[in-house]
Amino acid sequence: MKLEEYFEEYKKRFDKLKKISEEVWNYIDKNIENANILELAKNIEEKIKELGAKPAFPVNISINEIAAHYTPEENFYIDLEKHMVKIDFGIHIDGYIFDTAKTYYKGIHQEIIEATKKAFEESLKEIKSGNKINIPGKIVEEIASEYKLKPIRNLGGHGLGYFKIHDKPSILNTFFKTEEEFISGMPIAWEVFITNGNGYVKDSYPALIFEIKNIDKINLIRVAELRKIIEHAYKEFKTLPFAKRWLNFEKNLVELAINEGVKKDIIYEYSVLKESKNSFVAQFETTIIVE
Ligand code: MN
Ligand code: MN
Repeated sequence: MKLEEYFEEYKKRFDKLKKISEEVWNYIDKNIENANILELAKNIEEKIKELGAKPAFPVNISINEIAAHYTPEENFYIDLEKHMVKIDFGIHIDGYIFDTAKTYYKGIHQEIIEATKKAFEESLKEIKSGNKINIPGKIVEEIASEYKLKPIRNLGGHGLGYFKIHDKPSILNTFFKTEEEFISGMPIAWEVFITNGNGYVKDSYPALIFEIKNIDKINLIRVAELRKIIEHAYKEFKTLPFAKRWLNFEKNLVELAINEGVKKDIIYEYSVLKESKNSFVAQFETTIIVE
């Protein structure tokens, strides 16, 4: 698909995507307190379907030092006095994605929430055609430093492609050298992460979120039962991320299929991203069309 055509198709669906995401946020606002994170993630995913879209990736519920890419597989109860909870969900209609996140927290480090919210809102205003794509990050850096905090320098916003959650351009949370400018009509997922730690995230395992990247290599999987699981995942989620709990097969087989898929370079695994000093991280994100 040509870029102009993609922009046009995206625009047709944007209002609906935005409206559904707002209704999902209303649902989360009412249900987050003391929630069981596994139940909450499943209920959010159900809500998205009820409202006429599909989850673009497993709902991320990342707590405290975990910045992103954690999706619950086990029961755990939220206590907002102790837990800085980042909920990040994506929805899509026909492969056109809307990506959004917000932090909930009632504990003593309110300055992190305040700084992240302010940096997010101020930097968002600079996402407009003609502006260089390094301006938002520069603003985030400045506002974080006013609070003596740091942005996560290896995370940031991104373009959204057709059935592709992370597309070009990559827009860091700090200033970086580039001549690239925002293009009118382009959908951008802009997200800001701020921490009271070192300001970068490290990979942590086991991974909980996966994505099919090379379905053409499927014949490298010799066991038919395992091949069937990966083929099913591709049919259902295409090139969008998924979780093990989305695969309704015997647990051991799912485990094996994913391990084999990763080994054979058919499946990409998203490592869990943890702040390098295990410090608190807050996040806010929304999706806009560049004007
Ligand atoms: Mn997101
Ligand atoms: Mn995102």
